[in-house]
Amino acid sequence: MHFLPSCRVAIIGGGPAGLMAAETLARQGIQADLFDAMPSLGRKFLLAGRGGLNITHAEDFEAFASRYGDRRGQIEPLLRAFPPQALREWVEALGVQTFVGSSGRVFPAGMKAAPLLRAWLTRLREAGLRIHVRHRWAGWTADGALRFISPEGERHARADATLLALGGGSWARLGSDGAWVPMLAGRGVGVAPLEPANCGFVVASPRTRPEAGWSAHFRERFAGEPLKSIALAVDGVDAPMRPGEAMISDDGIEGSLVYALSASIRERIKADGRATLRIDLAPGRSLERVRAEAAHPRGARSLASHLQSRVGIAGVRMALLRECLSAAELADPACLAERIKALPLELVAARPLDEAISSAGGVCFEDLDEALMLKALPGVFCSGEMLDWEAPTGGYLLTACLATGRRAGEGIAAWLAGH
Ligand SMILES: Cc1cc2nc3c(=O)[nH]c(=O)nc-3n(C[C@H](O)[C@H](O)[C@H](O)COP(=O)(O)OP(=O)(O)OC[C@H]3O[C@@H](n4cnc5c(N)ncnc54)[C@H](O)[C@@H]3O)c2cc1C
Repeated sequence: MHFLPSCRVAIIGGGPAGLMAAETLARQGIQADLFDAMPSLGRKFLLAGRGGLNITHAEDFEAFASRYGDRRGQIEPLLRAFPPQALREWVEALGVQTFVGSSGRVFPAGMKAAPLLRAWLTRLREAGLRIHVRHRWAGWTADGALRFISPEGERHARADATLLALGGGSWARLGSDGAWVPMLAGRGVGVAPLEPANCGFVVASPRTRPEAGWSAHFRERFAGEPLKSIALAVDGVDAPMRPGEAMISDDGIEGSLVYALSASIRERIKADGRATLRIDLAPGRSLERVRAEAAHPRGARSLASHLQSRVGIAGVRMALLRECLSAAELADPACLAERIKALPLELVAARPLDEAISSAGGVCFEDLDEALMLKALPGVFCSGEMLDWEAPTGGYLLTACLATGRRAGEGIAAWLAGH
């Protein structure tokens, strides 16, 4: 068995949470060793930058904190210690300017993660961080050493304090595969099952077909088509229709608006086996107006050209009505108007966890102290997406990952000082 030199602090997981903890420790002059299973660090962070890295949000703090739903109580104190403005200043201190997009989302200049990660890793290395890639953590030995599987075989290391920053369970090929769940659960740590968050959903057959998903015709023509300027609500959830954009997928629906509602949709499916999404296909027009327009005599014109000229419904919206409504519903102007304003779409399952942008579930806050140390395993801290919280897209994920990494770093410094 090969023993690695003892570490003062072992940080396992080189995503944003682990790196922020390393930085917090380095600022206090504490050397850390960082281990990651992958050949390089921050792979999910880099992927997040591919579609435009949204690092935080510029809305007021009250609205910001509300995005963490049931976990607001646990996350808010960490955000107060590292609020969105401090995050922006931190990015800028790394030499990357930030800007606020029209929706209030905050991006680094260039919108990419790579320049930020490069500058960050350079600074951390200069501060003395020792990085060990291709070291997959595999739990503890009987006498409490950390076990790593490396290309040279199994290696063990002792650490005065350990931070687990192993990420959630989506996009396993980027490193965060959730394999840590049984390792912690086996040590008596409460872990809520990892579930998809910010994910797409599978639609039930809109009409009489027995199988789930769209008809072959609709899928072939419209999968990948955006549904711009719509509004969505979930039946049974007391919230107004929410405006935004979604996308037709191969077997259902996805996109930013669906992600924003994904926690409610997921919970309804869990409770009832299905959730009903209501789509307002004409959010700029009142029901009364759509009713009047739909009832307007159309003469020899087809239904499609009638709806296009009077209600602005065409393309994928028209196809969606045809996909979901019976001939009788389409022929009844009052019913048609109601459906245009609240088209019901039955959703039966979330797309698989591995495809999700983030995961819900994880290490329960009840099993952590305020410094994010595991009560069952003194000296072992946790941070980032592996904790049991979730938030919509909009920069809330990274902001909380960084804030939890910072808190755990401070907690480790205090723990070392006390021991
Ligand atoms: C497509 C996509 C786009 C996204 N866009 C955004 C966005 O714009 N804004 C935003 O706020 N968030 C975004 N996110 C979410 C964000 O990237 C994550 O929430 C964040 O990276 C989680 O950080 P983390 O440090 O907790 O975990 P991760 O970034 O997942 O890092 C965990 C690390 O732990 C390592 N690891 C795991 N298990 C082991 C083990 N057993 N041994 C050793 N190492 C291990 C992994 O290799 C990985 O490097 C996006 C996610 C995806 C998938």
